[in-house]
Amino acid sequence: MTRLFGTNGIRGVVGEAMNADLAVKVGRAIGTFFEGGPVGLARDPRLSGPMLARAAASGLMSAGCDVIDLGMVPTPCAQYFVAKSGHLKGAIVVTASHNPREFNGLKAIDAHGMEMRREDEESIEAILFEDRFHAAAWSDVGSSRVDDTAIPRYMEAIEAKVDAEAIRKRNPMVVVDPGNGAGCVVTPYLLRSLGCRVLSLNAQPDGAFPGRLPEPTPDHLGDLMRVVSEVHADLGIAHDGDADRATFVDDKGAFVVGDKALALLARAAVKGRGGTVVTPVSTSSVVEDVVRASGGKLIRTRVGSPIVARAMFESGAVFGGEENGGVIFPEHQFCRDGAMSAAKMLELLAHEGKSLSALVAALPQYHIKKANVDVPVERREAVLAAIVELAKGRKVDSTDGVKILESDGAVLVRPSGTEPIFRVYAEAKTPARADALAEEGVSWIKKALGHR
Ligand code: MG
Repeated sequence: MTRLFGTNGIRGVVGEAMNADLAVKVGRAIGTFFEGGPVGLARDPRLSGPMLARAAASGLMSAGCDVIDLGMVPTPCAQYFVAKSGHLKGAIVVTASHNPREFNGLKAIDAHGMEMRREDEESIEAILFEDRFHAAAWSDVGSSRVDDTAIPRYMEAIEAKVDAEAIRKRNPMVVVDPGNGAGCVVTPYLLRSLGCRVLSLNAQPDGAFPGRLPEPTPDHLGDLMRVVSEVHADLGIAHDGDADRATFVDDKGAFVVGDKALALLARAAVKGRGGTVVTPVSTSSVVEDVVRASGGKLIRTRVGSPIVARAMFESGAVFGGEENGGVIFPEHQFCRDGAMSAAKMLELLAHEGKSLSALVAALPQYHIKKANVDVPVERREAVLAAIVELAKGRKVDSTDGVKILESDGAVLVRPSGTEPIFRVYAEAKTPARADALAEEGVSWIKKALGHR
């Protein structure tokens, strides 16, 4: 059967794969799966958001669901609303997260506010592909109403879960760049409310993304890095398009590599209380080192934030996340949350009483080398099997792809979930060793491609 949901919802170029017909069908299928009841609906500021959201709402109502329209809000804000409502069946969020301007997407959220489990997505796909939609009778068609309380509830919850007094006392200067995405309606206000001096960039929601592309990577954050250093700010914060991710710029205007920000947040989470931290096999050992040194335990999973969130839910973890800025605080909710991550970084700086650049410099140093190799999708399984064969006799972690563990480093080779490539990720204490390990990983893929 054809798969509809990718690793993070359904994505496509608007007017092509992503269109009104698909949104109606997905709304009908999710409504049928929920068997009626109230369902949340939210969107990011993409230009096609109102069009797709109304189509999805129509599909939901046709299957007998009542739509609670939360409007344009960050994805984690909608997830928090669902989790705390206690009676919503789930939600549909219309977002393409960090994808370029022409994309949009549909994300299915369960009653816990979490990304739906793969089994449930499969049930929804089956309803859609087998045309088993429930069509409510005239008297059972769903209703629609607007609820504009999601943002204040979400902001209050975050403020209650950080040491706002410590942040206020430090009175940091922060530059925030929500990238014209959904974070515009929350983060600048949250930071001001937490006692920060706030400067904002690209802080009006605009689906044309006039300021920068939605992915908060160093090559898109030149303006933020410049402004932070010009105004001598303590911190720079950037979100992706739906603000479930936050990346950081230090007080010197330098981009903080995701693994290092993750390590600092993980250490703060386990400090003084221990507990389990969950992160995928692709994350740097710097996270493992600081968690262990602070008395915590680390669980490694396959790559993907819904997988990390599920593992945290099941293991009772105190913290988890990925190196792309997607961080999960379970005392708040079991999903990535950009505004919560920003607030926690400010709390950490206030408690440590040091600059972010100093904290980053004091972390264990690793050298990382990444590479991609094109592999046609139809050869993915055969190539992976050949690599497993090549790695025989070595110390291997096969959680996701093949990770070879050496005494002085590691190399992970895994197929991408979204592109026709294999990713190679090497890490070592010296740049030369990291390069050598990455080269070995690339050579395996090439050998595997040669062996038909
Ligand atoms: Mg996102």
